[in-house]
Amino acid sequence: MPFPSIHPMTAPNVKPPVVTVGRSKNNHIVIPTLSVSEQHAQVMRLGDEFWLEDNNSSNGTFVNEFRITRRRLQPDDQIRMGNQLITYRRLTKAFTRNPDDYTKEFAELEHIWNEYESLKEGLESRSLLDQGADLLMGVPVVGMALGRLMGAERMAQKRRTLAEIDAKMTTLYACPKCGTPFPLTRDSSFQMLLQRSVNQKQGRCLAGCGAIWTV
Ligand SMILES: [Zn+2]
Repeated sequence: MPFPSIHPMTAPNVKPPVVTVGRSKNNHIVIPTLSVSEQHAQVMRLGDEFWLEDNNSSNGTFVNEFRITRRRLQPDDQIRMGNQLITYRRLTKAFTRNPDDYTKEFAELEHIWNEYESLKEGLESRSLLDQGADLLMGVPVVGMALGRLMGAERMAQKRRTLAEIDAKMTTLYACPKCGTPFPLTRDSSFQMLLQRSVNQKQGRCLAGCGAIWTV
């Protein structure tokens, strides 16, 4: 059966939704094993049909042990990428995900929080520089005034930088669906958010927008 010619390159108005599969973390479905190429294959939904397309992978994509470049999938197909079997269900369920499921987006918050922590730590360790200003204060009169000024300026600068980082964080460290910011206190750190969700096996946006993430 010929592949329907609705590739975005040839028909810019028709963009079939695509789910990518590969070893690299930027895929929708990540298979972290060496026999799978970084960008191994993709699945396209065309109406009710799912089409699997190999991406010139090193070790090939196989359907029922035939190496394929493109093929329409059937639910009982045996699908293999490199030496990794992958189920039809896994390949196609991403197309039918719960629209309130923000698990993937939520996971991004971990990087954002970690970045935030290390930025703040960086600012703290720079306070060693401020101690240089204190030393100057040992010099009578002029040194003392200068030292105080420098110390005060550095403190003010640090407060401004912290405020800028916090302001940026309220847009980044927020519910991925409704944008409600999570508070920037220690007990709203990513690890704490995660811990709170573990009991229910699922987290839920506190603002009540319906967004959920599975743990
Ligand atoms: Zn929300």
